[in-house]
Amino acid sequence: MRKTFIAGNWKMNLTQSGATELAAGLVAKLADNTTVEVAICPSFGFLSGVAEQLASSHISLGAQNLYPAECGAYTGELNAEMLLDLGCEYVILGHSERRHLPELDESNEFINLKIKSAIATGLKPILCVGELLEEREAGRTTTVVEQQLTNSLADITAEQIELITIAYEPVWAIGTGKVATPEQAEEVHGSIRAWLRDRFNDLVADTTRIQYGGSVKPENARELLGQPNIDGALVGGAALSTDSFAGIIENA
Ligand code: PEP
Repeated sequence: MRKTFIAGNWKMNLTQSGATELAAGLVAKLADNTTVEVAICPSFGFLSGVAEQLASSHISLGAQNLYPAECGAYTGELNAEMLLDLGCEYVILGHSERRHLPELDESNEFINLKIKSAIATGLKPILCVGELLEEREAGRTTTVVEQQLTNSLADITAEQIELITIAYEPVWAIGTGKVATPEQAEEVHGSIRAWLRDRFNDLVADTTRIQYGGSVKPENARELLGQPNIDGALVGGAALSTDSFAGIIENA
């Protein structure tokens, strides 16, 4: 049985006080929740303030990125050890904004280095994959997603993948208000699970959690999360309000 996993990606939003207030609000609102695993992923600068709020709660802390190197001359970057030291359990890697913003343009090969670096320290990656609208319209969704999985997870073993959550995030549905239908999402989730079975084994396929991300809200969460291969959600915009994020978790 895969425990439902809802993660909130706060992206580059909020202020230090807004982030700690939101974290405190979630801790209070979700105090009774033990059935759904929850993580929140603030900006780097707010990690320690949010960690303090989460200290005695069931909510985990995650970061939105890391740089895959040991300490040294990497101005402006944070590595996996630093994130662990700040209290992170999870790290989002390969988010479509990092893959597709032209100034960032992250490749699967770079994401693979980040995945290896996270795993080597015990940090749990949430690996994002997903197709652009033109790729979906050209009937290339499965090919694109499988290519992202193959290259981002190159050399990863069946033991190592235990730490990884996969987030299927169709790029056309992120922050746009356009949500994939439960059938569209389930079809891709099923193909990701089949890929896991083929590349690893039955155990990996049956236990790896696959989140859906793309305009998830309290109103659509129940139907999406009711699909057999959707094990949780990666939430952006709706994670910035206590009521809507808690509403998603209540409906999960
Ligand atoms: C995201 O940032 O990963 C995301 C899914 O955003 P939103 O929920 O706003 O579409």
